[in-house]
Amino acid sequence: LDGTYDEANAFALILQGKIPSTKLYEDEHSYAFLDIQPQSKGHSLVISKWSKARNILEVEDEALAQVMATVKKVAIATRKALNPDGIHVAQFNGAPAGQTVYHLHFHIVPRWVGGPTGF
Ligand code: 5GP
Repeated sequence: LDGTYDEANAFALILQGKIPSTKLYEDEHSYAFLDIQPQSKGHSLVISKWSKARNILEVEDEALAQVMATVKKVAIATRKALNPDGIHVAQFNGAPAGQTVYHLHFHIVPRWVGGPTGF
């Protein structure tokens, strides 16, 4: 759970436009885009555009509030677009918990009855 923010992590490069991404939503503080290896159709990720938090343990309250407001917007838009039966909102801290990219992010994963339940 310890470590320093890597300025060249994949999501930092996405924010800089150095790695392409499929944008779903953006505002002054947050960015939402499709996951490159989706667990289901419409799997997306939401990140802060300014916080250099690696995980939820170190995020500023303001950045967290901004990101969660966007998580809610994207979840609502995902329901409207895809009519899933459920939606996972998930966030991992540390490699043993499944974290692979060390820029705080929230997964929004649509789920359907009979489909994978995930993670
Ligand atoms: P974690 O396991 O760290 O919570 O999730 C990282 C997520 O980021 C994974 O679901 C992975 O597919 C996604 N991901 C990793 N690199 C990229 C990338 O370059 N572009 C996009 N769109 N998603 C990525």
